[in-house]
Amino acid sequence: MTDGSTLDIILENTDLDEQLKRIGDKVRNHERITPEEGVLLYEQADLAFLGSLANHVRERLHGDKTFFNRNFHVEPTNICVYSCKFCSYYRKEGQEGVWEFTIEDVTRQAESFKDKGVTEVHIVGGVHPKRDLHYYGQMIQAIKQVLPDIHVKAFTAVELYFMIRRSRVSIEEGLAALKAYGLDSIPGGGAEIFDPVVRKQICHEKSDARQWLHIHETAHQLGIPSNATMLYGHVETYAHRIDHMDTLRKLQDRTGMFNTFIPLKFRKANNEMEHVGEVNTLEDLRNYAVARVFLDNFPHLKAYWPMIGKQTTQVSLSFGVDDIDGTIDDTTKIYSMAGVEDQQPTLNTEQLVKLIKDVGRQPIERDTLYNTLRAY
Ligand code: SF4
Repeated sequence: MTDGSTLDIILENTDLDEQLKRIGDKVRNHERITPEEGVLLYEQADLAFLGSLANHVRERLHGDKTFFNRNFHVEPTNICVYSCKFCSYYRKEGQEGVWEFTIEDVTRQAESFKDKGVTEVHIVGGVHPKRDLHYYGQMIQAIKQVLPDIHVKAFTAVELYFMIRRSRVSIEEGLAALKAYGLDSIPGGGAEIFDPVVRKQICHEKSDARQWLHIHETAHQLGIPSNATMLYGHVETYAHRIDHMDTLRKLQDRTGMFNTFIPLKFRKANNEMEHVGEVNTLEDLRNYAVARVFLDNFPHLKAYWPMIGKQTTQVSLSFGVDDIDGTIDDTTKIYSMAGVEDQQPTLNTEQLVKLIKDVGRQPIERDTLYNTLRAY
């Protein structure tokens, strides 16, 4: 942990642009920055300044603490009724590479994690045309029969919207039913970028921003916490990113039930947007930093290590990130199908702890709701 004075030194001793200095003063005084200031940070702040701002916020909130959990993923199917252009994961029924797990299959997967110390199962997949909320509710029940203490964090708002509509009930009734089946929280995928013009370009068929926000707000009202994501580094502008985060910040002001914000990097392999290319690691770090500064009411900022790799994850801990997700145990295909270097994402607890300690931070094993289970 730094002594907290890096930002002071930058603000007092450099030839900083007046507008950036004003933003720095706001951050130092715990004041909220405006959307215009958010865009200015993206456009004009250099990496060192962004890092000092974000690290100031991160250390004010969490000191050196860096959270992770022990989890596994269940991806019930990659069959999807939609064809998002950025997606490398979906298949249509009958296509090569399709999978479609039954409840029995998923129960067997859960059984393999008995007595392994995992505290969370993360369930997301394609939007299956024939499965409704009761099917997935029974899947949750089956998992909990095998692992009674597991926290079930499940389904993007896009999956939820489809399965609830398919069951012909309201969003509120559907979410309440899933909660009764055992749903504990919602992971936050499917948000992409809320701007309707960008959404039309990259994922025109699926639930829009209004529906995503309605699902999350209703969940919060029912006592179901959630996370929020943003897909960045494709055709969106900085103004679109800030607009996305501003929408989330306003919802969080109303409910206070988002735990963490997770920027998701667009990866180009095996999808229709390969020509767009990918942003570089510096842009990843800049994006984490702006998010940490802008989203002043989000307690946590997560770097999803299978997406950006282990080394960039370590660096991100100086750019606002305080959470690096979990052990995962080679149970997700979402990013390996999109071309990331690490084709078999798995780190055991010892390796995660070392990864955090090697950059001078303190590993904290948490549950899904950020209660400390063990400090290392
Ligand atoms: S991003 Fe999700 S909704 Fe879109 S095609 Fe892929 S699996 Fe389906």
